[in-house]
Amino acid sequence: MKALDFDLSKDLKLNLDTGIARFKENRLVIFDSNSIGVLRQDIINELGFTKAREFFLKFGYQNGYSDFKQMCLNYTFDNEMELLASGPVIHTWEGIVSARLTSIEFDKKKGTIHFTGNWVNSYEAEQHLCYNDISNEPVCWTLMGYASGWTTAFMNDTPTIAIEPVCVGKGDTHCEWLIQHLSAWDPDLLKPYKDAYKEYIG
Ligand SMILES: [Zn+2]
Repeated sequence: MKALDFDLSKDLKLNLDTGIARFKENRLVIFDSNSIGVLRQDIINELGFTKAREFFLKFGYQNGYSDFKQMCLNYTFDNEMELLASGPVIHTWEGIVSARLTSIEFDKKKGTIHFTGNWVNSYEAEQHLCYNDISNEPVCWTLMGYASGWTTAFMNDTPTIAIEPVCVGKGDTHCEWLIQHLSAWDPDLLKPYKDAYKEYIG
């Protein structure tokens, strides 16, 4: 199948008897985005920007990693490119953001990847700007975490990091992601992300 053939509305199982919603083996829970925004802001206010960023990057990473495993186990894609490209598709179905990829290049043997795209309607940038001024760094922590977890799983656990060069939270009109191997990033820029994922990527 192609990435765009994936249709979460067909494979999302809602069950009124058990109160358990599932995407394959994963249990899903549905929350109003404003309630996540309140939690996010309380964590920023109580623990500071740095700690909040770490928590939400890690939260997103786990989400992306888990989704990739379910996608990989349950569907057969035409090729690896389509499997990788199904990440932005499921991310969009989940109501987190509208994700459109712009370029994909990867070599699993060498561990290299260059994967870019646009994010429009990020729930997290919306929530961030409800409570905070324009930031001097990207704020879509759960999205960047998701993309990092998804591609790290795709690359057979070769550490792969997503950072937004462009983000609505910085005053841009939309967000963009750039995903590269850990070693391809500037160490100073990478540090908060590497620290957040240390349990996963060593
Ligand atoms: Zn953003």
